[in-house]
Amino acid sequence: MSENNVSTLPTRVALERAQEALTRPGGALEDLGLDVEAIEAMSAEDVLRWSLRRFGRRIALSTAFGPEGMVLIDMLSRIDPTARIFTIDTQRLPTETYSLMDRVRDQYGATFEVYYPRPDNVDKLTTQYGFTPFYKSVGLRKLCCNVRKVEPLRRALADLDAWITAIRRDQVSTRAGAGKVEIDDKHGGIVKVNPLADWSSEQVWAYIRTHDVPYNELHDRGYPSIGCASCTRAVAPGDDPRSGRWWWEADRQGAECGIHTAPNWQV
Ligand code: SF4
Repeated sequence: MSENNVSTLPTRVALERAQEALTRPGGALEDLGLDVEAIEAMSAEDVLRWSLRRFGRRIALSTAFGPEGMVLIDMLSRIDPTARIFTIDTQRLPTETYSLMDRVRDQYGATFEVYYPRPDNVDKLTTQYGFTPFYKSVGLRKLCCNVRKVEPLRRALADLDAWITAIRRDQVSTRAGAGKVEIDDKHGGIVKVNPLADWSSEQVWAYIRTHDVPYNELHDRGYPSIGCASCTRAVAPGDDPRSGRWWWEADRQGAECGIHTAPNWQV
């Protein structure tokens, strides 16, 4: 397959998915009057401008302060410094991530809304399964992700009509069909905006260098993708960038926290 085919395939899949949503009975994208093809053709900055105009205070950027999230924070600071940003603090993040969050506050003067896991859920999880349940089974790992990430995300999205994410199509196979705008059926049918859907990792890092955007110092120590400290490790040069996440799990297809796949595990 030529390089051109590789780069155009995700866009075609995204358009097919968007068109499927348009023709679905009660197709929400059509109801909202969204011109999906026009949005697909926009730059990331224009997608952000359009989404802020369209949804105002009913849209927020969700970020875990990865490289893509930092690009979007920088873009928003130039477009509308008052745009809403939220993050989920699992309370198990690396110290370097908390340091980066403070740098973002200092450098951009940004305030962000922070959602934490419910203490009663954490209490139940640790009482029943201990402090490192994620190493015991995939099911318990997903249960921990549900308690510390997925449930707080549901609360964060509860008062929103749309959310902005930093996902890119080539990060993992489950994101290959992501559109720049789509209906998020996993979260009540609100709109999900992915301005960097068609960006490559190289583009992200070129933006960071060009605009002197702060980033997590762990990236310089072999961590291309960073989650909780206990579930992330460095990878060798050339390895799959996400292979350091839940590295002990054999099924890499299932190696997602659930934020973008919205499972339904209960503690
Ligand atoms: S990444 Fe690990 S510690 Fe963090 S929520 Fe998921 S299982 Fe729990």
